[in-house]
Amino acid sequence: MKRPALKRTAVSLLLLALTAGVSAQPAAAPLKTEVAGKVDGMYPWLDGVYKDLHAHPEIAFQEVRTAAKLAAEMRKLGFEVTEKVGRTGLVAILRNGAGPTVMVRTELDGLPMEEKTGLPYASRAHTQDGAAFTTHSCGHDVHMAAWLGAARTLAELKAQWKGTLMFIAQPAEETVSGARAMLDDGLFKRFPKPDVAFALHSWPLAYGTVGFEAGPVSSNSDALEIRFNGRGGHGSAPDKAIDPIAIAARFIVDVQTIVSREKDPKEFGVVTVGAIQGGTVGNIIPDTVQVRGTIRSYSPEVREKLLDGVRRVANASAAMADAPAPDVRLTPGGAAIVNDAALVRRTEAIFQDAFGAKNAQRMPAMTASEDFSAYANEGIPSMFFFTGVYAPDVVAAAQRPGGKPIAFNHSPFYAPVPEPSIKTAAQAMSLAVLGALARP
Ligand SMILES: [Zn+2]
Ligand SMILES: [Zn+2]
Repeated sequence: MKRPALKRTAVSLLLLALTAGVSAQPAAAPLKTEVAGKVDGMYPWLDGVYKDLHAHPEIAFQEVRTAAKLAAEMRKLGFEVTEKVGRTGLVAILRNGAGPTVMVRTELDGLPMEEKTGLPYASRAHTQDGAAFTTHSCGHDVHMAAWLGAARTLAELKAQWKGTLMFIAQPAEETVSGARAMLDDGLFKRFPKPDVAFALHSWPLAYGTVGFEAGPVSSNSDALEIRFNGRGGHGSAPDKAIDPIAIAARFIVDVQTIVSREKDPKEFGVVTVGAIQGGTVGNIIPDTVQVRGTIRSYSPEVREKLLDGVRRVANASAAMADAPAPDVRLTPGGAAIVNDAALVRRTEAIFQDAFGAKNAQRMPAMTASEDFSAYANEGIPSMFFFTGVYAPDVVAAAQRPGGKPIAFNHSPFYAPVPEPSIKTAAQAMSLAVLGALARP
């Protein structure tokens, strides 16, 4: 992935200039009282939009109704909206004089699974082919509501800032392909290339809180697919065959030593085999065995080490059995999101001033992947942060030994509490953006 150094330097200078005036004390959240007032006042609208989106999720690249709804709302707010960017994505621009271009991204898609929350506004919707239920179990509906809330707040406070807002709604985050689709459709050529980019994700933290970190906050993800080739035969005569089940079994166990014996133990790295297919009945040695899995890491060095190790162990497992070489396919998924340290420091001070230091804290990176990294990897200083969605006492109880676990993102029981979760998310995004825009 490329990272044009020039652009980075220019924006670092911009951020330096922005922070220079307040270097003696932490940055104050610009307009925090006004932002909180605006978001409170518009909450009934946000609540309605949220519950409608929640009840009508659409999966990757099928987000037609969702995109149309967001497009209509953004036009009402005075944004110039372009639809069908990257198939079902949209770009909404609001120009307001000379100043930085700040991008805010939301995702549009839900997941193909059944919601089991029992909420009055729970989804009963289906995929276009009717084959599966659809659910906003990753909280992308929370993000869309917060995205609209921030857009409206910033539009209403237009006299207080200068620059360009670039609000994008991205399809197909769950298949880690929507960001790429928008970029390939000319996102940064047909529209301004932003100076700074933000995105948020709902997370099972206490509502009213915001979490973030500098550096990697999500993982590199690579898919592994290996076909071990043997020679089929009778189960009673293994000497006449080459048993790919034994080879695959050895691989599945030995590949974990890459993680435990070769990788720096202080660095994050995971190799998971999630699927194995081979054979039909007990007395036949099959020809081949398929193994599929996922490889996760934060740093490029660990990623290379894991990919190399998986290839090496796969080949060695086959060689030990005198089998033909396996077919190894390692496919890159999303790259890790690496938050810009200067941008995080400045936004952290803003969040702490607005929400209190206790409610705006650093948190560990997630091991999941997210394709927001595709924008950052175009050389845009970025910040991806997390906002809480559960009652603080419920979160505290879950953390006690033996406590009732809370539903995580992608659980059929994932049930964000809309108020105040959406308010905090909308406020946090508005304040983060204001911190990166110019003053009149
Ligand atoms: Zn998700
Ligand atoms: Zn998500």
